[in-house]
Amino acid sequence: MSLEQTNTLEINIDRLWETLMVSASIGPGKSVGLSRLTLGEDDKAMRDQFVRWCKDASCQVTIDRVGNIFARREGREPTLAPVLIGSHLDTQIAGGKYDGILGVLSGLEVIRTLNDRGLETKRSIEVVCWTNEEGVRFQPPMMGAGAFSGVHDVDWVLSQLDEDGAVFGEELKRIGYAGPSDRDRKDIDAYFELHIEQGPILDEEGLHVGIVTGGFTSFGAQTVIKGEHAHSGPTPMEKRKDALVGAAIIIAKISEIGWAYAPEGRATCARIDVSPNKYGIIADHAEVTIDVRHPDSNLAAQMYQEAVELVAIASEKANVEIEIVKEWSFGDVDFDADLVDLIRATAVDLNVSHRFILSAAGHDAYHLSAIAPTAMIFTPCKDGISHNEAEHIEPGYTVSGVNVLLNAAVNRANA
Ligand SMILES: [Zn+2]
Repeated sequence: MSLEQTNTLEINIDRLWETLMVSASIGPGKSVGLSRLTLGEDDKAMRDQFVRWCKDASCQVTIDRVGNIFARREGREPTLAPVLIGSHLDTQIAGGKYDGILGVLSGLEVIRTLNDRGLETKRSIEVVCWTNEEGVRFQPPMMGAGAFSGVHDVDWVLSQLDEDGAVFGEELKRIGYAGPSDRDRKDIDAYFELHIEQGPILDEEGLHVGIVTGGFTSFGAQTVIKGEHAHSGPTPMEKRKDALVGAAIIIAKISEIGWAYAPEGRATCARIDVSPNKYGIIADHAEVTIDVRHPDSNLAAQMYQEAVELVAIASEKANVEIEIVKEWSFGDVDFDADLVDLIRATAVDLNVSHRFILSAAGHDAYHLSAIAPTAMIFTPCKDGISHNEAEHIEPGYTVSGVNVLLNAAVNRANA
């Protein structure tokens, strides 16, 4: 039986919720959220559970060399490029139960709904779990999607180390998710990603769906600050080369850049590493990461320029050497106009309240947008809280967005 009417399908929200709550029990954090780091035991347990669910839904499961999982529900014309729906199942160290997870499990719910009704689609539909979106244990973030789309060399990804020296490729083998071969990145008709907004706009405006048109332009850098050990008592101020002071100046001034470009601009130093980090001795080494974001790519570039100029200022004030050892940028993307239109038309048809929105966070979809027509759907989260165990959503916040995903993806797969 094939689909004759469009936009008439509805997911089973109770089933989606039960599935989410099983995920919420794998890799619990300190309070109510998750701490499910990439390629750890909990990531393995979640992947195993996800693969079981996909096989129970009669999907064919394949894994590529960086551990991305693809679960395929064959279409009527299997030689046509499939429609992909995906996100990630890894979490932040103090993460919520829904960031990324909702997107993957909504994809699974799309397939289960089609199975319930015995509905065939013309193109195959695949649910994807991308490896290491969060970048907590191995950097950079969005690693699996980046390798898949050709931004990162696969062998380079496999050679990355975590802070304890564990090798990405070996960890992948250890948990049983080192797949045999790379997948053809050209073999995609469209990519959909549903994600919680991770910001407060939809919640504040009481809307159910954000149709993401693109991302904030983001620039990041890692700085290394070299000072010199010295006694914190006898060493006169003018003789000090204090790496921690260099780091502190950068951190304080980055925040000032954020305030200068607020409310739309955002500037952060999320991580500092300092050594020896002991009483009585001046630090000889520090590392600070810089992260600036703005919806206007020119202003984002201007913010980054100001951030880079801080290096000379902090270096002079603290009498230390500062080097930028790594730089990156993402988010300056426009999602596919046809898919954005399709999602909007679907939301209108289903009578779901919606608005256009930009994403201020990084997503796997950014990498996918370089190789295939891509779009994202945001659903609300309470007070916009995310990367926090208190991240909270409810079935009522979510069901409309997943129904939009279901009908839009099926329409695309039948086009
Ligand atoms: Zn995410």
